[in-house]
Amino acid sequence: MTTTLLRGGNLFVGTSKLRRADLLISAEGILEIADRIDPSDDRVDEVVELNGKAVLPGLIDSHVHLLVDGVDEMQRLHEPYSTPYYRATKVLRETLERGITTVRDAGGADQGLKHALATGLIEGPQVLTAVTILGQTGGHSDGMSPCGVDLSLMPATPGRPSGIVNGPEEMRTRVRELQRAGADVIKICTTGGVLSPSDDPRHSQFAMDEIEMCVREAAVTGLGVMAHAQGPAGVLNAVRGGVRSVEHGIYATDECWDAMLERGTWLVPTLIAPVALLRAIDGGAKVSPTVKQKASDAVTQHMVNVRKAVNAGVRIAMGTDAGVFPHEYSLAELSLMEEAGLEPHEVIEAATISAAELLGLGDRGRIEVGMRADVIVVDGDPFDFDGFADRVLRVFQAGSQRVSREL
Ligand SMILES: [Zn+2]
Repeated sequence: MTTTLLRGGNLFVGTSKLRRADLLISAEGILEIADRIDPSDDRVDEVVELNGKAVLPGLIDSHVHLLVDGVDEMQRLHEPYSTPYYRATKVLRETLERGITTVRDAGGADQGLKHALATGLIEGPQVLTAVTILGQTGGHSDGMSPCGVDLSLMPATPGRPSGIVNGPEEMRTRVRELQRAGADVIKICTTGGVLSPSDDPRHSQFAMDEIEMCVREAAVTGLGVMAHAQGPAGVLNAVRGGVRSVEHGIYATDECWDAMLERGTWLVPTLIAPVALLRAIDGGAKVSPTVKQKASDAVTQHMVNVRKAVNAGVRIAMGTDAGVFPHEYSLAELSLMEEAGLEPHEVIEAATISAAELLGLGDRGRIEVGMRADVIVVDGDPFDFDGFADRVLRVFQAGSQRVSREL
């Protein structure tokens, strides 16, 4: 076990003002924070001189799809079945290089990916996963195309049960299947979506008895529910049904934000998703003809409505929906969150402290003694999000250095 002294860094402590301090970390966690820690201290194995560079908690992306890296239906038709699993190893490694040390996979990744990470077979952020996406027939998770070919982003496999569900009794079974498959969270679609071929993001999906059954059955094993929800009726149904987080919220109204405030429901905006999706379509990605129109409608409304959520004080955690667009662009979300009205230090808070709270991970998200040593070193101003990912110079995960660029 290596104990590392990070000397002379500027630490993010939850405010706009950084704290100049030394930091001692190991696999046991953050051991000490002080104005000065003696480098000749017996505990110190390695010293890293930071000369004022910023030190942040490892970032947490609350909404990714690791088994997808950009959506293109032609590509999906011609790609071998197992390619997404191999590609995910690259996506994971590069996600870590961007300073993201924890992610919540909102559908796609199964237990095998977590097992491969846990046993050191591959490197990447720690993954919590929803395994698949539960949705009704013809809903957002139903990839049946008009010609009768199923182009679902996450078809059923031995590790990933089918996500199509109708009626509360079937919902009970599906949630139990996901619990058996090792899900850390249950994901449902309470509205249509941008990428699905045959629905409208403003229409609600699932009836209340289905949503309530999902939340109740998930809670039996301590799991929360995340709801893909874009139109107001479906957002309200999800919130009233007791979900822990609303994902996207593109067309949500003040009534939705009020209901979320009242119940303490989180919003994971994923502002970059429709923006980057449109860019990919313009770049030649092949999708259903309805998708482009849905994505361009979404972009403006999304920013307008999330700005209202920020003003209302809705709790916000950073999530990107990376995978729906190429993962490399994921941290463009930070600038968009600032554009939506969060102060720069609040953006970092949403990507660390708040995301950890949403995910129920009390051991991370803060630079405090006793926390897990997921720590990143960022060159330049950490509150300037332009080119942020390229300025991540070091990444420590549970005290181990995973990424090292010249300081
Ligand atoms: Zn998603």
